[in-house]
Amino acid sequence: MRKKSITVGGKKWIPSIQDWSWIISVLWMTAANFWHPFGLFGFVCMFTPIIIAISGRGKMHCARICPRGSLIGKIGAIVNFGLNRPKLYYKKWFRPLLWGVMMGSFAVMLILVVPRGIDALGFAVLIFMETATVLAIINGILFTPRQWCTICPMGFTSGNIRSFRQKLLRRNTKDVTA
Ligand code: SF4
Repeated sequence: MRKKSITVGGKKWIPSIQDWSWIISVLWMTAANFWHPFGLFGFVCMFTPIIIAISGRGKMHCARICPRGSLIGKIGAIVNFGLNRPKLYYKKWFRPLLWGVMMGSFAVMLILVVPRGIDALGFAVLIFMETATVLAIINGILFTPRQWCTICPMGFTSGNIRSFRQKLLRRNTKDVTA
């Protein structure tokens, strides 16, 4: 069946490509292991959800595109223990903390690696993305396939951008109707 695009909040969402977008994850990580500068493609994976959220399409990237989300969905559908997710994941502070730890370590890594050139930078980005993918896969196997998506820093960022835009929109509407 042909997948349709839909309109969410007045913005068009593309049809889902998550049936096959996992291939992008596998291909780029494999290629980057052989040619480290290709690891810089990781920035595309990082900034795409942010740019899409800023464009007003909320979490369209998570729901329709994300290659990592697609990959963990596929693996989790094959092997999944279905355990209850840890209580820690329900804590309000856990997502911001994980976000801070991951983004903080990424920033420190950039500061240390940028002076060493493109090869080192590409490799560092690759290692960072591979670590996140391994964590996502482990979560997907132990709990539910897309468990990682409930704590993923990029999903957290795009969700916050969406909330911020919605607040701004509500405030502007109030100002206009006042
Ligand atoms: S939450 Fe993270 S891993 Fe999940 S779909 Fe969104 S960006 Fe991808």
